[in-house]
Amino acid sequence: MQNANLTVLAGPTAVGKGTISRKLIEKYPNVYLSISATTRAPREMEIPDVHYHFLSRDDFEQRINRGDFLEWAVVHGLNMYGTLKEPITQANAAGRPALLEIDLQGARSVRKILPEANFIFLAPPSFEELITRLGIRGTESRSERENRLKTAREELDAQGEFDHIIVNDDIDVAVNELAQIMNLN
Ligand code: 5GP
Repeated sequence: MQNANLTVLAGPTAVGKGTISRKLIEKYPNVYLSISATTRAPREMEIPDVHYHFLSRDDFEQRINRGDFLEWAVVHGLNMYGTLKEPITQANAAGRPALLEIDLQGARSVRKILPEANFIFLAPPSFEELITRLGIRGTESRSERENRLKTAREELDAQGEFDHIIVNDDIDVAVNELAQIMNLN
């Protein structure tokens, strides 16, 4: 995986990582958006192998032992999430830059292995705005929302570790900033 063409987009829950990266690939279809593996159950609108590879805990652990993951982490103290190496290697070989939408722990792991990658933090305009967005999304129970906000505070404190910070105030502006950092224009 040396010299991988890879950008890591991290940031707290509900900040809009999914929206920004989907918009980016609509505009730049050559970018490969990494599909993570997770032990979390699918949400209503999620399609297996499109949004995530949904794995049982056993399968996930087997893949860890096989060395299939570039990185993996237990996120929000609950479920396991990880980035598989193989699709990234294949995408890069086909001349496609890879974009990873992962959490802070994952970003830190990737930095250890690939320090030359692009590390971007997507920040909310304010913490209050993040609470509002999480409430509007309504996909989590109250206790799960509180859990996610606790992680979000910790993640926001770490934004100084990143090479670039994009504030997600206006989606189109944020997408353009991301494209510029990835050298897509
Ligand atoms: P969600 O359950 O809302 O889809 O994702 C929860 C969190 O897991 C998000 O912060 C997301 O960035 C993170 N995540 C998704 N895929 C991965 C991955 O492959 N690795 C790591 N470390 N975190 C991930």
